[in-house]
Amino acid sequence: MEPSTPPELPRELRGPATGGGIERYAHTKVVATIGPASEDLLDELVDAGMSVARINFSHESHDDHRRRIGKLRRVCEEKGVHVGVLVDIKGPKLRLGRFPGGRVRLRKDERYFLGQGDGEAVEGEILFDFPGFHETLDLGHRVFLADGAVELRVEEKTARGFFARVERGGAIGDRKGVHLPDTPLELAVPTEEDLVDLELARELEVDMVGVSFVANATELARVREHVPDAFIVAKIERAIALRNLDGIFEEADGIMVARGDLGVELELEQLPMVQKTLLQNALRAGKFTITATEMLESMVHSSRPTRAEVADVANAVLDGTDAVMLSAETAVGEYPVLAVETMHRIARAVETSQRYHDLPRIGFRVSEPTFSNATALAAAEAAVALGLSKIICFTETGNTVRLISRYRPAAEVIALTPHRRTLSHMTVLAHVRPAWFPRSDTLEEMLESASRLLLERGWVEEGEEVVFVAGVPPGVARTTNVMKLHRIGEPVKLA
Ligand code: PGA
Ligand code: MN
Repeated sequence: MEPSTPPELPRELRGPATGGGIERYAHTKVVATIGPASEDLLDELVDAGMSVARINFSHESHDDHRRRIGKLRRVCEEKGVHVGVLVDIKGPKLRLGRFPGGRVRLRKDERYFLGQGDGEAVEGEILFDFPGFHETLDLGHRVFLADGAVELRVEEKTARGFFARVERGGAIGDRKGVHLPDTPLELAVPTEEDLVDLELARELEVDMVGVSFVANATELARVREHVPDAFIVAKIERAIALRNLDGIFEEADGIMVARGDLGVELELEQLPMVQKTLLQNALRAGKFTITATEMLESMVHSSRPTRAEVADVANAVLDGTDAVMLSAETAVGEYPVLAVETMHRIARAVETSQRYHDLPRIGFRVSEPTFSNATALAAAEAAVALGLSKIICFTETGNTVRLISRYRPAAEVIALTPHRRTLSHMTVLAHVRPAWFPRSDTLEEMLESASRLLLERGWVEEGEEVVFVAGVPPGVARTTNVMKLHRIGEPVKLA
């Protein structure tokens, strides 16, 4: 047989690099943060299976973001692949001012004065470069600096500020992060700066916006007003967000388990169980999930991850994450491409295990009494019952695809849509291979031409049995109501 992808196929009809089918890619998606170490490796990263490129607006300039997204779009255009673009807005990240020489080492039991300012601190002083803590910071409250590297406790309040004692010493530097886990602060999202960043996100037509330090659903809704076409990803990284999860799950399209900041807000040992709960609840709510931060951290400088990191990635996949994320590993690390490949290898090893398929996908069946969900469930079960490897879903919004995806069917979901936005949105969904497909007028025509297209691409074989999921009438959103079992090559006769 000829290799797939005949050259005469229009570029937009060619397959994405992501998804299953191609042996070395896992069903779990890989999100890679693009930074100085990776902006000239985009070609290789796409080939390695990067499904979503992430740009963190906390670092570098609008020019950098614009240039990187431009480069990515060109690579995708050349390859005819779809890679989602996720940008993270900064949110109200609390930061330190500066120190003489840029750094200071704090020793256990030393006493420091905590004040407000963005300048250089004097000896014995630490400056917070944000307002609003004078009223609520109180005796006994903990102060974490630089991602929790240093911990102090407030022991005296004066008219000008606070004195705090170092409980855990360490080195900190200019502009590092501050966490006040015991202190209620008014931190509204989006911030003034976020509004400027959202403007850029909208102009660049990014697919997903990660909302840093979000506290509740209202803030997500406010962000959505500024980027109405983007998926809204709630970054769960504050303790207060955990208390408002129901609303957040309702408003967000997906969540990120942002373990970096969350690991400072909570006791570190709480993270694994919180991660499991978040992933499980999101699956049930039909929201996608990205598990983030330090997943392969040692690969910033090493060509091999640690055993513990391998186990961490594998466990996130078992916990039901849609995507695993790389941060410093790809943004500033020495082995960006290898890190992406490593993610796929680990995820594949899990996905090919019986244990992965035996996981109970409890609660979903009745969680959403809609035609779409019932059709999605029927498709997933038909694929299991018949041992089929492809579920082919026609979708307008991607909603039904998301519903099928959360059953983590043994089969791959080929998601066909005429909408470019839907296509890019679906890049983050586990088990889903998005592909562009023109609109058809009738169901027959839709099934006929999809069968032809998939045959041409080599994604299905002549005589192969597949499950089709569609909505009639075609072209109308939220009408998924048909599951059709079909043998490729046989004529589609519905009447
Ligand atoms: P960040 O978010 O990389 O923007 O800090 C992720 C996290 O906190 O884990
Ligand atoms: Mn964070």
